[in-house]
Amino acid sequence: MTVTDATPGSVTTPIPLVDLAVQHAQVAAEVEEGWARVVGQGSFILGPDVAAFERDFAAFSGAAHCIGVANGTDALELALRARGIGPGDEVILPANTFIATAEAVTRAGARPVLVDCDPDHLLIDPAAVAARIDESTRAVMAVHLYGQMAPVDALAEVLPDGVELIEDAAQSQGATHHGRRSGGVGTVAGTSFYPGKNLGAYGDAGAVLTSDDETAAAVRSLRAHGGTQKYRHDVAGMNSRLDSLQAVVLSAKLARLAGWNEQRRAAAARYDELLGGRDDVGLPATLPGNVHVWHLYVVRVPRRDAVLARLNAAGIGAGIHYPQPVHLLGAYAHLGYGPGDFPAAEAAAGEILSLPLFPGITGDQQARVAAELVAALEAG
Ligand SMILES: *Cc1c(COP(=O)(O)O)cnc(C)c1O
Repeated sequence: MTVTDATPGSVTTPIPLVDLAVQHAQVAAEVEEGWARVVGQGSFILGPDVAAFERDFAAFSGAAHCIGVANGTDALELALRARGIGPGDEVILPANTFIATAEAVTRAGARPVLVDCDPDHLLIDPAAVAARIDESTRAVMAVHLYGQMAPVDALAEVLPDGVELIEDAAQSQGATHHGRRSGGVGTVAGTSFYPGKNLGAYGDAGAVLTSDDETAAAVRSLRAHGGTQKYRHDVAGMNSRLDSLQAVVLSAKLARLAGWNEQRRAAAARYDELLGGRDDVGLPATLPGNVHVWHLYVVRVPRRDAVLARLNAAGIGAGIHYPQPVHLLGAYAHLGYGPGDFPAAEAAAGEILSLPLFPGITGDQQARVAAELVAALEAG
């Protein structure tokens, strides 16, 4: 059954939040050939394919070094550990992020200190950061949320000497802020290649980016049990290495990423057009100076849970990123925050709705998403 009309409630094919089949079709032949080569060589962990991807992704990100690791959460933990951040240190991060940002901090042994976001673009608020810095603060995690970079220039201005800017670049591959690239701005950055990210592997994968030689060397050692040479270990690290099979996928996709991000931008502009006339739909705001890569297209609507339920029932794979800010998650109750502490993040959590968006989404699909959203809003 094909989707040709945008009539709400008509029986049609579901539209997922993310459809990876469109990307796969374009890289399938290259991946198959690369995987056959890796299997033939029998070199599955690190190796030449990983080194080639690391070189290309470092160049893409404007960083001197890329170190491939097992996933994005490990990448952020390794970034912190490589900078010597651990017990006794505090790391400031926004309340509205995926739990992994906070987990990286606690796994490194440091304490997460949360701050609110800007109510318009929902990125970390530099004024809130400035107000919360004290002598225990070692770093600020700039989370490049939904595909656009955090206000890194404004953050840099409020950071005293000795407090580092570290990027959570999991959702922002290819994004820029005044021409500076995601992953190339902080002392160090961690990114994720989870399959649904803008640059996604066929399983878990991630990377650390940095232009500091010593930090890069520390991450290379820590990702492989803290070794400096075979069976010589001066510190205990972890096992967090990138697979050669994933590197083959990532290299094939990296070559197409700029084009795919362009398609995401066109799709976001199309949603802006389709929904811009309604005063009950808050469109996503872009921070001045940003080139957005639209990892997620997040609107704000009244009666969000009912609207989402109606959309899902109509086969529209809309979602929420994220339903609870970090300070209200059970896992971080011990930090001692409570409702009312971060009003902008809490208000957003009750209204945000992520609409289907992926390279290859069609105008017909978007028209149907918009029509179903309008029907859900008007259902009362
Ligand atoms: C996906 C994500 C991560 C973690 O990446 P994994 O590869 O799933 O471990 C961290 N931070 C943010 C903002 C993310 O979206």
